[in-house]
Amino acid sequence: MKVFLRKCDSYDQVDDILQPVLKNYSGIFKSQESVLVKPNLLSARKPQDGVTTHPAVLESVLKFLISLGTKPFVADSPASSTLQKAAYESGILQVCEKYSVPIVELDDPVEVDGQVYKKIKISSKIFKVDKIVNIAKLKTHSQMILTLGVKNTFGCIPGLEKSGWHIRCATNENFAALLVDVHLLVKPVLTILDGIIGMEGNGPANGKLKHFGVIAVSESAFVLDHVICKKLSIDPEMIYTLKEALKRHLIPSYEIDGEWSSTIELPITAQALPVPKFLKRIARTIIRVPKISKKRCVQCKICEERCPAQVIQVSKYFIDYNKCIRCYVCHEVCPNDAIDLVRKFM
Ligand code: SF4
Ligand code: SF4
Repeated sequence: MKVFLRKCDSYDQVDDILQPVLKNYSGIFKSQESVLVKPNLLSARKPQDGVTTHPAVLESVLKFLISLGTKPFVADSPASSTLQKAAYESGILQVCEKYSVPIVELDDPVEVDGQVYKKIKISSKIFKVDKIVNIAKLKTHSQMILTLGVKNTFGCIPGLEKSGWHIRCATNENFAALLVDVHLLVKPVLTILDGIIGMEGNGPANGKLKHFGVIAVSESAFVLDHVICKKLSIDPEMIYTLKEALKRHLIPSYEIDGEWSSTIELPITAQALPVPKFLKRIARTIIRVPKISKKRCVQCKICEERCPAQVIQVSKYFIDYNKCIRCYVCHEVCPNDAIDLVRKFM
């Protein structure tokens, strides 16, 4: 298995850098095949916010697929916005229009069984296409620590169906098992990582912009994610999805073509408290919980609607910490960065 790593300083250079790499994969696709392209369209954010797949990366991939005579279309199911709004704000819609490529909602769920979880409702559109191409974003994630190629296919679970899984899974380890199950069911033939400008700190939507300057491509998102972790000097066992993938022997030996490395500030939820040794046991009892900022909250109620545990009362700025499962969905979906992650004794 091979992973291509290419340094790429700006989105103006994407096409020149990506096309020669993509040519290595021409043999995967046949003329007239339908190809579902799955970007990261988490929410209605501008390309420069570093939240969604940049339109320049999508454009380069579409150009490649069209040149092979395939019939690509773009599909996703955003977590906190309508597809049309997210596609427009992110610039994805404009690229689709330029190439007359349809953009469709990943709706119409069908129940399928994963290796660990049964009856997973995934969009039926996934199973009606010849090939799937995954275009992920390099970002931190307050719950899963990093969101890369494997996590990106979670968007194939339609809309609010996603929320219920946070409750059903209950722990980060179980949620990672679900993400791996979903990825194995979606089975993208190619994963491309937009790591030119991504996010560090408390991602995936309200972290800090970071220029990583990389594009990565591989047939295996598990391998790609593993390589990116190593190149960011992160122990892959620390990333829940990779720990699960290693447990299931989903990461074969691989070869890296290209050079790149960088650093990343992890989310506050993954950082240990800087305390002396004798206080380590006490430090382990301190958790991070979401807290609504009265100053920044605009009472849009998106967090209240999306909280899987239904424990938020925005009008009172109240969160029931006894029932909060610390999935940080509220932090992820808040359009105003009005949820802080504060320390609390268990
Ligand atoms: S915390 Fe954020 S998502 Fe929740 S109501 Fe306030 S602004 Fe909206
Ligand atoms: S309050 Fe936030 S972190 Fe807690 S369960 Fe609800 S969405 Fe998850």
